[in-house]
Amino acid sequence: MSGHFDAYQLACSGIRQLSPYDPGLPIEEIERRYSIHDAIKLASNENPLGPSPRALEIIRARSENIHRYPDGAGFELKEAIAARHGVAMEQICLGNGSNDVLDMLARVFVEPGQNGVISKHAFVVYYLSLVYVHAEIRIIDATHYRHDIAAMAAAVDENTAIVYIANPNNPTGTWSSAAELKALLDQVPRSTIVVIDEAYAEYVVEADYPDCTTWLKDYPNLVVTRTFSKIFGLAGLRVGYALSSPEVSDLLNRARQPFNCGSLGLAAAVQALQDEAHVTRSRELNLAQMQVLGTGFAELGYATIESVGNFVCVDLEKPALAVHEELLRCGVIARPIGGYGMPNHLRVSVGTAQENQRLLSEFARLKAAGVI
Ligand SMILES: *Cc1c(COP(=O)(O)O)cnc(C)c1O
Repeated sequence: MSGHFDAYQLACSGIRQLSPYDPGLPIEEIERRYSIHDAIKLASNENPLGPSPRALEIIRARSENIHRYPDGAGFELKEAIAARHGVAMEQICLGNGSNDVLDMLARVFVEPGQNGVISKHAFVVYYLSLVYVHAEIRIIDATHYRHDIAAMAAAVDENTAIVYIANPNNPTGTWSSAAELKALLDQVPRSTIVVIDEAYAEYVVEADYPDCTTWLKDYPNLVVTRTFSKIFGLAGLRVGYALSSPEVSDLLNRARQPFNCGSLGLAAAVQALQDEAHVTRSRELNLAQMQVLGTGFAELGYATIESVGNFVCVDLEKPALAVHEELLRCGVIARPIGGYGMPNHLRVSVGTAQENQRLLSEFARLKAAGVI
């Protein structure tokens, strides 16, 4: 062996420029760090009600078989998803979380040198997926934190392999209407894959909010992604999916790692999907508590970005990192989003009534004490 070993020099330039994804702090870490015992986590948009009891039950029942490989085709879950959305099983690709399918989409459709179009403040996984495949990344300015869908459509050219749209978007909670998205789909060439990420769809009640899975028959280049990590309460099991034309799905399934979804995740997802009562309960809690947080922050003198997700961004009008740190000390874990170009905003997930009261009262206390 000769020469000096520098792994960073060997890595692709796109990867060298990245920093590792910031996954948010786990409760245990904060309790250890500050010697406290009642920390609450409002940092990762998880369902504060937890998983469906039906999901827990099947996990117990199936856990004795975890020495077996899972069903690599995910038959049971695909059957349930197909029934839910009125699509064929051939239109589904399962992912290890929807992040997995978002990443597969870039790997399958983007050649080096082609471009991908995303919005400023958009969910970071689109950017990461495009970096990995050496795409030219076109980041389109947002308007009042909303995706500017018309400007995104205008940025598409013959070299655009893919467009990623979050609807609603994380971290902003903003959303795009049926008319805006239809106009984009009608305008872009069929040679551009349009991905609409509907991770929070089940939370949204706005009349003009589209369920884009119903448009698949009209647009063969449309891909819609969904996840079991949010309202379905299975973030720890990592299951998500893409719906598309059968051809796109076939290609995604070629890029998919065999056995990318575990057996317990597959089984739990079937139950979670069918537990309508749990989903309704979760949606209603979120709607009511979103109001509580909006009013609470307004009373404290903070503006929030109107959100249809299960989280909301609070404008602190000064760097949010320091406030985040003070909240951690009193056991409240929120999410700073400086990495999203929003250094003065803090994202908080909507928790239970009790958790939200705790958050608001800690805010009030820190404010009264002049700490924030
Ligand atoms: C949380 C989230 C996802 C889902 O990620 P998983 O990999 O399914 O856990 C996808 N898109 C957005 C915008 C999200 O916020």
